[in-house]
Amino acid sequence: MTMLLVERDPGLQPLPEDGGGATLDDLLSGAWEGLAAACSTSCPVCAGELEPRWTSRAALAGGRCRDCASELR
Ligand SMILES: [Zn+2]
Repeated sequence: MTMLLVERDPGLQPLPEDGGGATLDDLLSGAWEGLAAACSTSCPVCAGELEPRWTSRAALAGGRCRDCASELR
C-alpha cells in the first residue's frame, strides 16, 4: 500500500523585492553575448537594433541602440 504524501511549502515565497536587478543583469549579459557573437543584437530596452561599438583595436567596447539610443558599456 502506497501512501501519497503531499508536502506543502511552509509559505510561498513572495516575489523578490530587490527591484528585479537579476533580470536586468540577465538582459544586459545576454545583449553583450549577442554583440560579441553576432556583432548585432536586440536592445534590452526597446528590442530595437543594437549596434556594436569597437575600440581602435577592434575590441568590443559596447553597443548603442539605433532606436532609443541606449548605450551598453
Ligand atoms: Zn533601444
